[in-house]
Amino acid sequence: MRHFNLFSNILITKGAGRILISDLQRKISDLYPLELYDVIEELKNESIENILENYDIESQQIIHEYIDFLLEKEYGFITHGDWDKNFLPLSNEFQEVSRISNVFIEIDNVIILDKIKNSINNLGVKYLVIYCNKELSLKEYQDIDNKFKDSVLEGIEIYAPFHNALNKEFFQILNQTTTRIYNFVFYNCDEIPLKTKEAFRFNINFNHENLKISACGKVDLKYFNTNLPKVLEAINHNSCLHKKIGIDIHGNIKNCPLMPENYGNIHHSSLEEAVMQNNFKKYWNLTKDSIETCKDCEFRYICTDCRAYTENNHNNKDGLDVSKPLKCGYNPYTCTWEDWSKNPLKQKALEHYNMENILN
Ligand code: SF4
Ligand code: SF4
Repeated sequence: MRHFNLFSNILITKGAGRILISDLQRKISDLYPLELYDVIEELKNESIENILENYDIESQQIIHEYIDFLLEKEYGFITHGDWDKNFLPLSNEFQEVSRISNVFIEIDNVIILDKIKNSINNLGVKYLVIYCNKELSLKEYQDIDNKFKDSVLEGIEIYAPFHNALNKEFFQILNQTTTRIYNFVFYNCDEIPLKTKEAFRFNINFNHENLKISACGKVDLKYFNTNLPKVLEAINHNSCLHKKIGIDIHGNIKNCPLMPENYGNIHHSSLEEAVMQNNFKKYWNLTKDSIETCKDCEFRYICTDCRAYTENNHNNKDGLDVSKPLKCGYNPYTCTWEDWSKNPLKQKALEHYNMENILN
């Protein structure tokens, strides 16, 4: 008797119309029809021969083809006599020792970062994302990095407007004088200034669009992430807001800079005090399994949630907004994508966020 064993690093997420098979080791996900899900479920409980007995000749051929396909994709392997019991299932537990892992701050002046420096260390923050709405000089980029040179931060990511001084020499100096910045996104960029791919310590992205902070929260295949820690976090917690602090341009401490509720202000209180407040963590454990529409979507563990912009039409018994993210155009029931901003059913929510101009 032959038995099919699924590798432990293969995660299958069933949606309303398709399944997503994620190879958590190779960091890739692929879409398949629901029938494959049924075959895999049968293979978990019966030997290949027992399964084949229940089908006519034509269907047996299809089962053989599915098994060959699963083997070809290296989703599993065959053993004789019994399933291989030496490979324990992968634990879905998510562990994060930091009290806060991410801080997302909107600034118009680098000096404001002094207000959060101590809290970053006290909370064990790993990543700092800075959105700046004004151009920054070489010295300001160096100052940002320097402020955190002895901190617990693992990395700093900066979004800032493009300007003409951003040339090869500028980045060569930054490469030699900074340690924590690992990603730059320059927006409003007319022309890409670096013709050759230079090997810098950090990534540099030039974006033609005027990336407003309110553009955050867009759901698109290109942002999906099959990465083991991110997938485990999404299975157990909110994939955007868990262990995150957002600080808006006025210094208000929030879950995300674009959400309305605030829990203090960095000019008068600390991030530690904000985290201690009753409701601060209310969205941390809201997974996509509890969000309308997303709960039936095959992408739910590789797609980042957004609670700042939602369809704003469902609250759960605890008063949490469990509506589908507004900026998602995917319909898991028809397995089709459409332009979310043109959907007439979203018009009320677009009005709520004063975004009607997008629809027009
Ligand atoms: S809640 Fe939405 S807008 Fe806020 S950080 Fe997350 S994705 Fe961006
Ligand atoms: S419905 Fe949209 S937002 Fe929800 S999980 Fe699917 S792709 Fe992501």
